[in-house]
Amino acid sequence: MPTLIPILGDQLSFHLASLADADRADSILLMMEVAEEAGYVRHHKAKIALILSAMRHHAAALRAAGWQVDYIRLDDPENSGSFTGEVARAIARHSPDRIIITEPGEWRLLAAIEAWETLFGIPVSIREDSRFIASHALFNAWADDGRKQLRMEYFYRLMRRETGLLMEGDQPAGGQWNFDAENRRPAREAPVPPAQPRHEPDAVTREVLTLVATRFAEHPGSIDHFAFAVTREQAEAQMLWFLNHALPGFGDWQDAMLTGEPFLWHSLLSPALNIGLIDPLELCRAVESAWRAGRVPINAAEGFIRQIIGWREYVRGIYWREGPHYVERNHLHARRPLPDFYWTGATDLNCLGQALRQTLDHGYAHHIQRLMITGNFALIAGIDPHALHQWYLAIYVDAFEWVEAPNTIGMSQFADGGLLGSKPYAAGGAYVNRMSDYCRDCRYDVKQRTGPQACPLNALYWDFLVRNRETIGGNPRLAMPYRSWDRFDGATQNKIRNSASAFLAKLEGSP
Ligand SMILES: Cc1cc2nc3c(=O)[nH]c(=O)nc-3n(C[C@H](O)[C@H](O)[C@H](O)COP(=O)(O)OP(=O)(O)OC[C@H]3O[C@@H](n4cnc5c(N)ncnc54)[C@H](O)[C@@H]3O)c2cc1C
Ligand code: SF4
Repeated sequence: MPTLIPILGDQLSFHLASLADADRADSILLMMEVAEEAGYVRHHKAKIALILSAMRHHAAALRAAGWQVDYIRLDDPENSGSFTGEVARAIARHSPDRIIITEPGEWRLLAAIEAWETLFGIPVSIREDSRFIASHALFNAWADDGRKQLRMEYFYRLMRRETGLLMEGDQPAGGQWNFDAENRRPAREAPVPPAQPRHEPDAVTREVLTLVATRFAEHPGSIDHFAFAVTREQAEAQMLWFLNHALPGFGDWQDAMLTGEPFLWHSLLSPALNIGLIDPLELCRAVESAWRAGRVPINAAEGFIRQIIGWREYVRGIYWREGPHYVERNHLHARRPLPDFYWTGATDLNCLGQALRQTLDHGYAHHIQRLMITGNFALIAGIDPHALHQWYLAIYVDAFEWVEAPNTIGMSQFADGGLLGSKPYAAGGAYVNRMSDYCRDCRYDVKQRTGPQACPLNALYWDFLVRNRETIGGNPRLAMPYRSWDRFDGATQNKIRNSASAFLAKLEGSP
């Protein structure tokens, strides 16, 4: 009797733990396009298209490599609509004697898979996902090692030692672990960014795009610009393009934001990494080689490698360590509903409008747009972090809960009380003005704090600090802004708070 090996939509790699010792002649690889996964949040159309197209291409590649693939299409009339329903049907078709699966990237799916053994009466082995550098055991051993705080920087140093990346013996290459101080130059100094490659849709992708346009017409976002890498070859081409054209400027312009330039010096590799088309270590080794060959500066190579072996691995460790209720945390008791303009881009705050419309067009925004534009606004306006989490999960093509939730709930909204950051990432208009050109074309004046022309972020920022003083007022890293607030006279304080209240009242009444 064969072994049934379900392969999920973000497991599109030949090097899966569940395939490590599998016999091609005696294994059925089950790939399932199911409505439940496409619809449990209102995913951006481009995200659904990316995953379905990449799955179909990967199934063809597996078959070409001699694997037997049982592929269930979304439009199959017998399709039950769920993984569990499809595994039940596959068991009836193939009578396997066991199921082997690589662990999923979400607590919700893990719970469903853990129920299969009882439900189906055959052994189910769930293997740890070996595509990550830090195993669960390694992360937990680090986290349990008598630490008061789980700071990413220290975890990152462990990862550098574990992988040997950018190391000279046991010392960091270039004499420093972190070159961030040399990064983050403001947008106004930026040269013209390199043009991103397009991966033109082939017949498989075009068929998927038609399916998505009809079946998911109500979902947000556009697929008109769809050009993501959907095969291993395209992902490799994207990686090579990045190494040669964007990586040299990655460190310098990592935080810059420019009108009409959604991608700048970013890699656009998160979708390929997260669905398995590119291996994170392979990518980091290529980046290190580019630096060792003198093709890119150390601040770019180190900055990029830190995002992958530092942040990416670290947020995953936090996600699994904190448990399934992590996504419900709301340390600051923020309760305001998510404004509708997050789904439409229709707002007169130019910074938000730029980031949101670009997100709807492409299913992509770079890190600082997610953290300091859409995230910062939600934080200082007191938006419910769970509603925001569902928005991020739905709207970005690279969003899978293990990576999205800690970034949203933790890093961006401080809803976990500061596991990921020592203070909330809250800012007023001055930050946006320094790092972007958005304020230039905005109907609001970034320099004004109150009044009809004043940038709303300014009053919201102070209001956020005052509203949450009881919870975060004792944070030493916020001592300076609280001191500044206390130095304002009473009339100024009142004006600021009234401005913020008026804006928030209008926001709740907004269509
Ligand atoms: C609120 C919020 C939500 C986010 N949601 C997601 C998400 O759902 N999926 C996702 O992959 N990333 C998420 N990120 C992290 C980051 O914004 C994206 O990884 C990045 O923008 C992807 O674009 P890129 O590949 O061009 O990245 P680049 O700027 O080229 O960075 C290189 C790579 O580093 C990794 N990386 C960088 N920062 C992070 C981070 N904070 N956490 C994890 N990996 C990181 C990514 O794999 C990325 O591909 C989120 C960040 C925030 C603030
Ligand atoms: S003025 Fe304020 S609202 Fe307008 S773009 Fe600048 S920061 Fe955003």
